[in-house]
Amino acid sequence: MTKSSYIHLNSDALRNNIAFLKRKYGKKVRISSVVKANAYGHGIEEMVPLLEKQGIDHFSVFDFSEAIRVQKSLRKPASIMIMGWISDSDIDNAIERGLEFFIFNQSRLKKALSYAKVIGKKAKIHLEVETGMNRSGIDLSELNEVIQFILENHNYIEVSGFCTHLAGAESIGNHKRIMNQLKKYKSMLKKAEEMGLEIGLRHVANSAASLVYPKTRFDLVRVGILQYGFWPSMEVFIHYTSDKVNKEDPLNRILSWKSKIMSIKEVKTGEFIGYGISFLAQSKVKTALVPVGYSGGYSRSLSNKGRVIINGNRCGVIGVVNMNMIIVDITNVDNAKIGDEVVLIGKQEDIEIKVKSFSDYSDMLNYEILAHMPTNIERKVIY
Ligand SMILES: *Cc1c(COP(=O)(O)O)cnc(C)c1O
Repeated sequence: MTKSSYIHLNSDALRNNIAFLKRKYGKKVRISSVVKANAYGHGIEEMVPLLEKQGIDHFSVFDFSEAIRVQKSLRKPASIMIMGWISDSDIDNAIERGLEFFIFNQSRLKKALSYAKVIGKKAKIHLEVETGMNRSGIDLSELNEVIQFILENHNYIEVSGFCTHLAGAESIGNHKRIMNQLKKYKSMLKKAEEMGLEIGLRHVANSAASLVYPKTRFDLVRVGILQYGFWPSMEVFIHYTSDKVNKEDPLNRILSWKSKIMSIKEVKTGEFIGYGISFLAQSKVKTALVPVGYSGGYSRSLSNKGRVIINGNRCGVIGVVNMNMIIVDITNVDNAKIGDEVVLIGKQEDIEIKVKSFSDYSDMLNYEILAHMPTNIERKVIY
C-alpha cells in the first residue's frame, strides 16, 4: 500500500446485483449501466470490465471524458451514451468515435449535424424531451420543428433513443409530478412516431423509477445506484419489501474502503485531543492515528461522530477530521498495533460500517458520499 487508503471491489456482490436487476426487469428490458462520477466512486476502469462480464453492453456517462475512459476499458463493442456535457470542440470527436449523446436543445442538434457532414459519419443521438423537470430537453412547442429537421437530415443523424428524466421518482411526494411527466412523454413519443421518426430505444427510468414505476421501463433503464448495491432512498427500499415475506436487502455492497493504523498513543485524563478543544479525555484514552482526512474524502462533518472498525471492534472518531488524518479511540481494543487494517466503509468479521451511516451523521446522500470517494487511490477487485 503506497497510498494511505485503498478500495476493494467485490465482484460476487456485483454479480448478485446485476442478476437481481435482470430478474426484476425481465428479458425485454435492456440495462444501461450508469458509470458517471467515476462509476459512483467505484472506478470506471475497474467497473466496466466487471459489468461487461455480467453481460452489460450499454453504458451511460455524464461527459465526453468519461465516455473515452469507458471506451478504453471495454473489451467488446458496446453502446456508450453521454447524457450531459460535451464541449463544442469534442462533438466531432464523439461522432468519429461512435459515441451516442443526448440532444437537449436545437443548438446542439445543429452543431451535431454540421460536424457529421464534415466527418461524413452519422451522429448517433438520443432525443431528450422536456416533460416537467425543467432542466434540459426539447419542448413540446419545438418538437415538430426538431423532428422535421432530423427527418430532412437522416443521412447524417441517427436517432438511437427517445428519452426523458424524471424529477424525483425516489420520493412518493413527487408521485403526481412523475405521472404527469410520463403522460407528457407518451404523447411526445406518439407525435414522433406519427411523423415517421425512427426513435430507437425508448428510455425514461433511473434506479428508483425502474422499481417503483415498472411502466417507466420501456426498452431501456438507466441504472446507477442500485447496481452498486445501494437504494436510491429508504422509501424505495420499503416500497420494494412491502409485499415480500423476506424483508432482507437483496442487494450487496460492492465497495469497501480501508486504511491502516499509522501510529498509536496513550493520552492522560483531562487532556484535549487533536485540534482545539472539541474532545476532552474524560479518562485515560488510547488512540490510533489513521492517514485519511477530508482531503481524501472523509467528510469533516464526521468529526467526533464517525466510526471505523479495527480488529473486529467499532471505534469512534475523536476530535475533528483533519485534512489528511483522523484520530480514533482504541481504548477498548486490546490487541491493536501499527499497520492493522482500519475499515472506513465495509465489513470486518460481523460488523459493518455502511455508507448510509456516513450520511446519517453528515447529512450527505449516499450518492454524494460515493461521488466523493478519492479517485487517485488503488482499487483492487476481489474475486
Ligand atoms: C444519474 C442518472 C441516472 C441514474 O440514476 P440512479 O438514481 O443512480 O439510477 C439516470 N438518468 C440520468 C439522466 C442520470 O443523470
